[in-house]
Order: sequence, then C-alpha cells, then structure tokens
Amino acid sequence: MKTDELREKYLSFFESKGCSRQPSDVLVPTWDPSVLFTPAGMNQFKDHFLGKVKLDFTKATTCQKCLRTGDIDNVGRTAFHHTFFEMLGNFSFGDYFKREAIHWGWEFLTHKKWLGIDPTRLTVTVYKDDDEARRIWHEEIGLPDSRIAGMEEDENFWPASAPSLGPDGVCGPCSEIYYHLEDGSNVEIWNLVFTQFNRQGSPPNNLVPLPSQNIDTGMGLERTASVLQGVPTNYHIDILLPIVHAAGEVTGVPYVYESDNGRRLRRITDHIRACTFAVHENVYPGANGAKYVIRRLIRRAVLDGHQMSMREPFVYKLVGAVADAMKSQYPELSDTIPRVQDVIKSEEERFFATIDVGLDRIDRLFGEMRFRDTAIVDGGRAAELYTSFGVPPELLQQMAAEHGFTFDWDGYQASMQTHSEVSGGEQNKLFQTGPLETLKETVLQTPFVGYESTTSNCVIKGIVTGDGHGTDDEGHLLSEVVAGSGMPLRVVLGHTPFYGESGGQVGDAGKISGDGFEFTVTDTQKHAGLVVHHGTLVSGKMKEGHECIATVDTNRRDSLCRAHSATHILHYALQKNVGSHAQQQGSKVDADWLRFDFSHQKSLSDETLGQIQHDILERIVADEPIGYETITLADARKAGAMMLFGEKYPDPVRMVSMGEFSRELCGGTHLNRTSAVGAFELLAEESVSAGTRRIVAVTGLKAQEYRNQTVEVVNRAAAAIGCPAARLPEKTAELVADLRAIKKELAAGKAGEHASKFGSATVVGDLGFAAARVVLRDTARTLNVATPEVADRIAAMLEERTRLLDELSRASAGGKLSADDLMASAEAVGTAVLVVLATPGANPNVMRGWIDQLRKASNKPIAVLLGSVQDDKVVLVGGLSHALVERGLSAGSWVGDTAKLVGGGGGGRPDMAQAGGKDPEKLPAALEQAKAAMRAKLATT
Ligand code: ATP
Ligand code: MG
Repeated sequence: MKTDELREKYLSFFESKGCSRQPSDVLVPTWDPSVLFTPAGMNQFKDHFLGKVKLDFTKATTCQKCLRTGDIDNVGRTAFHHTFFEMLGNFSFGDYFKREAIHWGWEFLTHKKWLGIDPTRLTVTVYKDDDEARRIWHEEIGLPDSRIAGMEEDENFWPASAPSLGPDGVCGPCSEIYYHLEDGSNVEIWNLVFTQFNRQGSPPNNLVPLPSQNIDTGMGLERTASVLQGVPTNYHIDILLPIVHAAGEVTGVPYVYESDNGRRLRRITDHIRACTFAVHENVYPGANGAKYVIRRLIRRAVLDGHQMSMREPFVYKLVGAVADAMKSQYPELSDTIPRVQDVIKSEEERFFATIDVGLDRIDRLFGEMRFRDTAIVDGGRAAELYTSFGVPPELLQQMAAEHGFTFDWDGYQASMQTHSEVSGGEQNKLFQTGPLETLKETVLQTPFVGYESTTSNCVIKGIVTGDGHGTDDEGHLLSEVVAGSGMPLRVVLGHTPFYGESGGQVGDAGKISGDGFEFTVTDTQKHAGLVVHHGTLVSGKMKEGHECIATVDTNRRDSLCRAHSATHILHYALQKNVGSHAQQQGSKVDADWLRFDFSHQKSLSDETLGQIQHDILERIVADEPIGYETITLADARKAGAMMLFGEKYPDPVRMVSMGEFSRELCGGTHLNRTSAVGAFELLAEESVSAGTRRIVAVTGLKAQEYRNQTVEVVNRAAAAIGCPAARLPEKTAELVADLRAIKKELAAGKAGEHASKFGSATVVGDLGFAAARVVLRDTARTLNVATPEVADRIAAMLEERTRLLDELSRASAGGKLSADDLMASAEAVGTAVLVVLATPGANPNVMRGWIDQLRKASNKPIAVLLGSVQDDKVVLVGGLSHALVERGLSAGSWVGDTAKLVGGGGGGRPDMAQAGGKDPEKLPAALEQAKAAMRAKLATT
C-alpha cells in the first residue's frame, strides 16, 4: 500500500467514526513557547483537552507534521526514527473513550477493508494497573494474555512516571501496539493515551478520575507504511526511497543498505526532508532555538557528505526531490523550492568553511590524549565538538576507534542531556561556546605591550570570520585564509601592541604583516581577556601559527593619546572651576576628539568655560611630565588618585600622573608631556540628562583645524551678508527680522520698503581666532544652529530673501493697477457690473484685496473674476456682491467652472472663491468664457 493511500485511508476511517478531519498544525508553532517544533498530533489540541476553548467538534482526526529533536541521534542508526515524520491521530475531547479507541484501532489495522494486517503479527502493551484496557484487549478483541504485556509507569503512562513522580494534573495510562517483523524484532506503530485522571499529590490514592475523559492517539505514518510495504526500514518506503536515491546520485555514492554510506545517505535524507519543511515555514538556520536545530541538521548532513568526499554544497540539491516525494499531501512545497535551496546552500557554504577546523580540533584532541596517555575520548569534549563544530559523535567514535581509543558514550549523553535541557527553553546558551571562547581555551589572554612600543613581533593564534556584530552568527575559526574576498575577519595574536577599546578609549588601527601577507586592522576590541584585531586581509595568505609584525598606526595612536591626556587635564580643570562634585560620569576618547560627561546641575556660563579653557591651555604650555606606575590600590589612594565613589578597581592599579596636578587610575595610552596635546578647543557644553553635563572638545590637529575653520566660517558669513566680520551677529539679527517682515508683507499682499541692505561684500574682517569664536558663538545662538552651520544658514537665508522679494515685486507689479484701473474695464450688464481680468504676477492675497476694494467702490452689484500666473501655475480668484449672491449666483461655482478650463479645480464660498490650475496658456480663453458665462447669468437673473 502506498503511503499516500495509507494516510488517506486512516483519515477517512476515523471520519467514518464521526471524527472531524482537521488540518495539520504548522511545524513550528509560534503560539506555543513550550516546544520548538510540533512533537505530536495532540499539540494543537492542548486547549481542547483542558476545556479552555469552545468545541466545534468533540472528535477529531489529523495527519500532523512533527519534528522531534530528541530523536536526532537515532536517525540513521535505527530503522524507524526520523526527526521529521507524520503522525496520524484520532482525538476525543470528552467524547469516546478507551473501548472505542481500542476497537477502532484494531479494526483499522486488521480489517480487510482497511489495512488487513495479520493479527498474529501484532502484540500490545498496557499499563500494569490498567485492568480495563487489559480486559478490553483480552475479552473483546480476543488477544491471548501472552500477547498483552503489562508495563511500568515509566513506559506506559503519560506523562511518563506521572503517578509517583508527577507533575500534578491531567494524566493517564497508555497502550501501545507493536508489529513483529520477519526477523523477530518489533516496532511500535501506534500509541493510545487514555487521559482519565487528575493527579493530586503523592501516592497512594492520588489519581482522581476526571469527569471528562479524553483520547489522544498517534500512529507513525512511515512506520506503518514500512510494515505494509514489507521493507526493512522507514527509509525504504515509497515516499522516502526516491530521496535516498537522489542523495546517492548527488553524492555519487550508490545506496547500499548495510554500509556506512547507506546510513549516511539515510541521515541526509531525513535531515533534508526536515529542513525543507522547516525552511519552507521560514525557520532559517541560526544560533538559537528552532533555528539552531535546523543549522545542526544541515551541518550534520554536510558532514556525512564530507565523509563521502563532498567538498562543496550538495544538500540543497535534494530540495526538489523532497517536494516531489511529498507533493500529494504538501503541494505547497514546490512553490518555495528556489528560496529553500538558497537558504540551505548558504548554510552549507558556511559550514564547509569550518569543517576542516573541526577535524583539526579532533586531531588536536587525539594528540592531547596521547600526550596525557588516556584512551577514552572525553564525553564532554565530544559533546562540545558536536555542538560547536557539528561533529557527530558517531563520526568521532569511529575516528577514535581507528586510533585505538574508546568513546565515553555515557559522558557524552550526560553532557548532551545538559545541552538539550538548555536547548528546550533557552537554546542560546548552547552557543556561548563561540569561536573566541574556543580560542580563549588555549590562548587564555593577550598580553598588551603597547604602552612601551607600537610595533612587535607576534604569533597568529587564531583567525575568526566575521566582524562579530551580527547576533545570529558569531563566525568560525579558520586555520588559514587567502586575500581576495574582502570579508571581515578577526585576528588574535599571542601578544599585541594594539590597544583594545576600553575605558572610553577606542581601539587602535594599523596593520599586521608577515611572510607575503598584509592584514589591515581597522579596529581593536577586547573579548574577555583576548585582544581581537578587526579588519581585512588585503594581500597574501595568512595562517594560524605564523609569525607576523603587528604595527600600530602611530599617527592615529598619537591623536588618541592627545585626546586621552587632554581628558585628564579637562577633568582637573572642571574640578578646579566647577567643584569637586564635577566627577566623571563617562567618557569617549577618539582621534583628537573627546567627550566627557560629568555631574553638574546647570549649564556652564561662558565665563566658566573660558576659565576652563584657560586653565587647560596653561597646563599644556607648562609642559609637565606624564608618567604611570602600577601600584597597590592603597598606595594609589594615599597618593591622592581620583577615585569614583562606588566604582570597583582592580588591585594593583595603574595610576597615571601629570606633574603634580592630576592622578587618575587609568589603563589608557597617554603622552609623555602635557605640551604634546598641542592645542585644545571646547566645541560644546550641553546637557545629557538631569544632573549630567557633557563637554565635547578637540585636540592637536583637529583643534588647529577647528580654529582655522572658525575664522573661515565667520569670514565667509560676513562676506555673504555684506558686513565686517565683527558686526556679523547684529547684521544676522537684522537679516532674521527683515525676512520675517517680507513674509508678513507677502501674506498681506502689499510690499513695503526693502533697501538692499544685504549683499556680498569684499570687506572681510581680520578677526583673530579668539574674537571670531565669540562672533560665531553669538551668531549661532541668534540662528539657533550649531557653529559650523552658520555660514551655510546665512547663505540659505539670503537666497530665500531674494526669492521672496522677487515674489513680492511680482505681486506689486500687479499692484500698480489700482482698483480704479480695474474698474475702467468694467462692463455693465443689466443692473450689475462685470469685471473679468488677467492680473499677471499678482498673488492671491493681492487679488482678494482688489476684489474687496471693487465691491466697496462699486455702487452697483458687481461680479469680479481675476486670473494670474505665478510660478507657472494659474491662480483664479472670484467675488460677488452680496446682492448677487442673494439672487442665487455663486462665486464658488463660477471660479470652479473656470478652473476646469485651465486644468485645475477649487472653489469656495458663494461671495468669494479661489482656485488653481496648471495650464497657464489656457488662461486667456478661460477668462473669455468666464466673462460670457457670467454675462449670460446676469442678464437672466
Ligand atoms: P519510540 O519509542 O519508538 O521512539 P515513542 O514512544 O516516542 O516511540 P510516541 O510518542 O508514542 O512514540 O508517538 C506515537 C507514534 O509516532 C509512535 O508509535 C510511532 O509510530 C511514531 N513515532 C514516534 N517517534 C517517531 C520518530 N522519531 N520517527 C518516526 N515515527 C515516530
Ligand atoms: Mg520516542
């Protein structure tokens, strides 16, 4: 019997018993945080069983997609376990119970009309105290006692061992149906769970019968199919064997059942089937939870392929075979084949890049064992190799055997137990064993030699892919890497002159070079004692274990030292001028740039800032020596080192001193003398949060540049606005006021006087930096922008002014027409007067003003429509005297109709309306028509 036929028979059989056929739940039930994947058919009915939902049916049957992570290690080794499999089930929610469940199961399995299995091949188990089940099997079904086994609660109770061990709550005995194969072995094909008790407390008498009893059953589709098809394993049934053969083809290894490769091909088959379904449901390989399971499955399939000499992605090529084999029940799989293939392929690519490192680690492990004269592969190490490098234990065991070692399966299983306990809920812990942790095991920590020198001969201890910023992928170890891809890499050295970002100071940059290769270091970070050099390999081949020269970019390092030493001087100046409460809250030290947060309630006055600046410069020119020593915490305290309350310091500590004025505990890099800071400029003083202020400053080259830039910005702004540099703040205030006035006039529709007060001038100020800084600061305050933006903002304002003035003059060019001029073109129609005119360049405000004037000036009822063109757009404004509105006429529809003729629309009140249009060339004709239309109306009303 074909598997597809079996599935359908099961569902229709239970439908014939009144069960409602329900669809499979998804494979990854995001609604249920207690499981990573759907483990059984009953999962989707949890709330039905607990009576938490309204029941549309009390009997159901399903074919459920399941994935059991707990069976991963059985796959390929037993004939009847998969990760992904289909479970056929029937369920009763307070409806039928034990008797029907047993009778129906038996009928379906043995009756000619259904499966017609020879009853003598079947035996059953019952829970030892479940007399009712035993009686039904024996008396009603007619099984002899010899074929009914009574089992303990650890085997035949759900949850296992619930009566004595708990948990409290709904539980019940099980009864399983076994099929006996030719060779004498047997396989469980069906499990019936009779949920009939509520456990309350410890035994005895702790199983209280439930008022409403439930049935939860599961029959393995593949297992039953294999029995019916008379094949040796589940992998030989009609829906799986084609995938096994496809795997054989892709790997170039013909499938032979009883061989190592046969087992590998079965495992690849299982894993690609599981992954195809999961990725189809958008569960992509990753570092946590369900994603991690998928990663593990793909990697394991890749390793099996690697053992069969595969060196390139191949698993993804089987997605089509899976979709094809499963298409009758899951046609949707064929819609996503390319996407699923892409996802699996890229995971394979990642793993192929690390397999060799994993195998390397195994070599190292064996070497270590020989050195320590042990013959048993440590189970914990094996579990770690599996979880970190995806090396299956069977593979490890096999390799160990070749070296004459045995394998600690118990230890392995115990470690995996801890892993899977973790993986049930918080799988992420599993991956805390990333590549850097692995390195840390051997390298322990990276000594920093960069206080004394900025270049050093070092040894490459580890190469890790990626920049470590992604959360999903921590990268992997490489034993060697060749330049070309430009991919981000991380390098760990035996010791290093590179400073890893810490204490607010950013990491060093530079290069690591060696025999024919060069690696550019763009950043250096610390990772639990390791110093990690981030960057890319620009040329050659870099290998773990090789010697190299690590060279810090000294220009950049110097700029970091300037900023860091200046930070200490700033701290001193703040304490002196603001008070001892102005303690450091946080800081960042970058190249000639620093940010320093300190405790203080309100902003610092210009005067205080000036004094701070002065004190800092004083210390710089005093050229005081800077030194450091490593001393006990007690001695540092005695020496008066600045210590923050509540801060934890190591002991001994590194104390950095400057002359006699500053002593701080600090691990950063510093100058030798204060004069080397060169220049120092405060850029900003601002609030970070209540009670915390922030100072941003620059040193050395950047401070020099800042000075030049300040003078330049002031000069540029003054030239643009047309005044001596010293007058920039007042002239800017004038500009702000003038712009405001122009906008008002435009809105009112009438122009005022605007002398050309502003405009470019060649007269520039010859202010020095100190004066320029004050000018710039004041101007920036007037404009409410940051100082570097002042010149650009002024230029933009001048441009805006020119544009607005232009608009205003166009409006007032129309303004040369007076209301009287307009009246001159008036036409008498009956008792009324009609004015329709083009008023080029006039803006709507002006036009409305004229209409008001005309209405007031005219002693007869008047209808006015004016049209202008502004910025290539038509503006129409129309108005009617009250008397005409009372006669039923409307300016709104007059203007609206006219607007349609110029490609627009609009309208308004009956006495005054405005509209726009986008076809200026049609304006004259439209006005003609508007005039004719109103003329006709006035004549008839
Ligand atoms: P086993 O002891 O063989 O692992 P189980 O007791 O875990 O089986 P149940 O939880 O009772 O199985 O699941 C119900 C049915 O689902 C089983 O009788 C079996 O037919 C099928 N089944 C369970 N696990 C698997 C699996 N990993 N692969 C294929 N079929 C399975
Ligand atoms: Mg099981």
